[in-house]
Amino acid sequence: MKKNLMLVVLLALIGLTFQNCYGQTSKDQGKDSKKAPEYSRTDSAPVEKANKDWQKILPSDVYEVARLKGTERPFTSPYEHSKEIGTFYCAVCGNPLFKSDAKYESGCGWPSFFEPISKKSIIEANDNSLGMHRIEVMCGRCKSHLGHVFDDGPPPTGLRYCINGVVLDFEKAKTAEKKYEGKKKGNSGS
Ligand SMILES: [Zn+2]
Repeated sequence: MKKNLMLVVLLALIGLTFQNCYGQTSKDQGKDSKKAPEYSRTDSAPVEKANKDWQKILPSDVYEVARLKGTERPFTSPYEHSKEIGTFYCAVCGNPLFKSDAKYESGCGWPSFFEPISKKSIIEANDNSLGMHRIEVMCGRCKSHLGHVFDDGPPPTGLRYCINGVVLDFEKAKTAEKKYEGKKKGNSGS
């Protein structure tokens, strides 16, 4: 009897380890693999799609947060401490959400911003789940869940948009690169 129990526990542990490893791999590879046909960084037309259809397109970690209102594990997003200059887009539909100049280190474990690109880039809604009152933040174009907004942020807004990194796509600013290239050329010519 005891031996059988040990075996079950051992198998469960192996299963968990495998699941963790597999989860990590799919997260690393999944980000840029599949995009919805509606994915666009310039088209602002609303995107409506049933969750069963999203599930076929999105990587599982993106689907879980964006469509099932999940939360990624804190301190796991590479965007949390990123200082690069550019724009953060919705990973589901490509809608521009936040500029890097509105990003700051809140220490809460998720990428944090003090304001969205515009009022239209996000939707806010009351969230009374988990026995607390919070304000949920969704993508203004595809209504994917992004995170929550709290009123303990820095000036000028005093807001903290606490966003799951897995539902963000980042693109470096092109103008900054051009300026740098121009500078390089100028230097080499002199
Ligand atoms: Zn979106």
